[in-house]
Amino acid sequence: MGDSVNPFESFQEQVDEAAEYIDIDEGMLDRLKNPERILETNLSVEMDDGSIEVFRAYRSQFNGDRGPYKGGIRYHPNVSRDEVKALSGWMAYKTATAGIPLGGGKGGIVIDPSEYSESELERITRAFATELTPLIGEDSDIPAPDVNTGQREMNWIKDTYETLENTTEPGVITGKDISSGGSEGRVEATGRSTVIAAREAFDYLDKDIHRATVAVQGYGNAGWISAKLVEEMGATVVAVSDSSGGIYNEDGFDAVDAKIHKRETGSVTGFAGADEEITNEELLQLDVDLLIPAALENAITEEVAQGVQADVISEAANGPITPKGDDVLAEKDVLIVPDILANAGGVTVSYFEWVQNRQRFYWDEERVNNELEDIIVNQFDTLVDAYEEHGLPSMRVAAYVVAIQRVVDAAEQADVWP
Ligand code: NAD
Repeated sequence: MGDSVNPFESFQEQVDEAAEYIDIDEGMLDRLKNPERILETNLSVEMDDGSIEVFRAYRSQFNGDRGPYKGGIRYHPNVSRDEVKALSGWMAYKTATAGIPLGGGKGGIVIDPSEYSESELERITRAFATELTPLIGEDSDIPAPDVNTGQREMNWIKDTYETLENTTEPGVITGKDISSGGSEGRVEATGRSTVIAAREAFDYLDKDIHRATVAVQGYGNAGWISAKLVEEMGATVVAVSDSSGGIYNEDGFDAVDAKIHKRETGSVTGFAGADEEITNEELLQLDVDLLIPAALENAITEEVAQGVQADVISEAANGPITPKGDDVLAEKDVLIVPDILANAGGVTVSYFEWVQNRQRFYWDEERVNNELEDIIVNQFDTLVDAYEEHGLPSMRVAAYVVAIQRVVDAAEQADVWP
């Protein structure tokens, strides 16, 4: 994979690059590049057969200058301390880019959840929630779903926390089921912001997203919703993929039918609406107008980037392009809407969920979607202004410049104690 890099190094390079355009001293820069604290814990959990298995788990609280730490919990065999640190940093700058009053955090368990029963997953999740309880809370740290976690896991964490703390505090976690205090529109929020941001990028280039061809890598929550919503905008989805491989049809296919096929068979491959099976790498290099990477980080390396033909990339995934991949794409004039804006819909509607939980007053889906649209469109315009005004090299640098300045402003107001 060529320059497949450590995601935390990748993250720190992005902050360094943006910091060149801002007047900050070295101590502050160090603060902006490293988490405030990390929980590393080993969860001993009883399996269905009575044996004990131990799972390594992390929670990184990156920056709380602008509000409570906020970020998802990932279940994946590749979860590592550095990955969690990187993801928590991206969250801090994502909440700042979106302009919502939250900080950044992230957590994860090193596990392949497909190898465990539901009752085992519940015990593993509740064991993690027990470790997290002293650290999390509506005003301190608010977890959410990420890869391989969803409403079910969020409800287990909320229930464990509320039981241990003898309270009702639905805002301790977001991404919950509606009946447990979740928000309308949360499930679709990440895909929704990804395609709103893509539409704004097409407008900026004087191109029409309605006529665009689209390829989506990763067909989980972020990817499949992006595909569905961009199709509703009139675009044609020609390729999608998951960890088993990809499918392609030059004339396009129905995104919902592809999802139904994946639900029934476990993968998008073998879908009758496609006429060709392709690899993930081939998908990323298709001649399409819009590419949506929605799987994991480091998908588009320097080598893969050489073959990318899309005009616009809207990053549904976190960190899908390596810094060297970014350089190649900049030379090719590909407009990249960076993850910290494109996929900020998830955390923005999480913020709406938290607001509703605290007010114990719930909004309808139309209000949620309208408020989200306003935030993504306004912040896209803010990034374009910064990009043009300061002659910045990319929209990613513009996003970091805007976000870092917001975090620095808050940190300076708070001052350092004692
Ligand atoms: P998910 O578990 O629902 O889906 C992940 C998808 O990626 C699955 O289809 C899986 O098969 C596929 N995948 C995994 N490894 C792959 C590989 N090597 N090649 C191709 N496909 C692969 O996860 P999700 O919630 O959709 O998250 C996807 C990305 O979006 C992650 O980077 C996540 O951090 C980011 N994200 C998600 C949200 C959210 O609200 N769900 C919010 C912001 C960012």
